[in-house]
Amino acid sequence: MNRNQVLPQVELSADLSALRRVDFCAPQSYLGGGFLKIPDLPRLAQEASKVEAGDGFEWNAKTYFVDSPGSEPHQILQLGLKGRLHMICQRCLQDCPVDLSEERQFVMVATEALADAYPIEDDELEPIVASQHFDLLSLIEDEILLSLPLIPKHPEGACQAHASSFGDAKTGADALEKPENPFNILKNMKKSS
Ligand SMILES: [Zn+2]
Repeated sequence: MNRNQVLPQVELSADLSALRRVDFCAPQSYLGGGFLKIPDLPRLAQEASKVEAGDGFEWNAKTYFVDSPGSEPHQILQLGLKGRLHMICQRCLQDCPVDLSEERQFVMVATEALADAYPIEDDELEPIVASQHFDLLSLIEDEILLSLPLIPKHPEGACQAHASSFGDAKTGADALEKPENPFNILKNMKKSS
């Protein structure tokens, strides 16, 4: 029998303290969503160069069970994240909006050992250890942090390199004095012809 038809579906509370303690061992599935402001995510707040109105992340989460031959049904968590924060652009060194939109899927396992043993070829499903007081807020924050660009930048052409954006100011000055790369000259000639 399909377990999803038997189990009650419970709405996940968007309340921050409730999100820190979600019972993923209870015989029920969850559905919910909400909006997290940057200050609600202290580790992410450390990465933000400034906070503008509207900065933050919409999240939605859903759990369901899939049958697994020879073992207990697996509980799957689907997590969607969409939002914006501001970081320092590494080209112009000004604030730069970073938009993220991520979909993640997790499979819940009973123990840390089972999570470590989970087949890594299945990169679509990341194992997480289910508990009666699972910190879903931390997981959301982890996934946003993992999705941040290593080198945040405005779109190509949208800003000018700051003189000291790569190392010391001398690098910028050198770049200006350097004769133009012949390949670039060729490219420009092609463009204008
Ligand atoms: Zn920039």
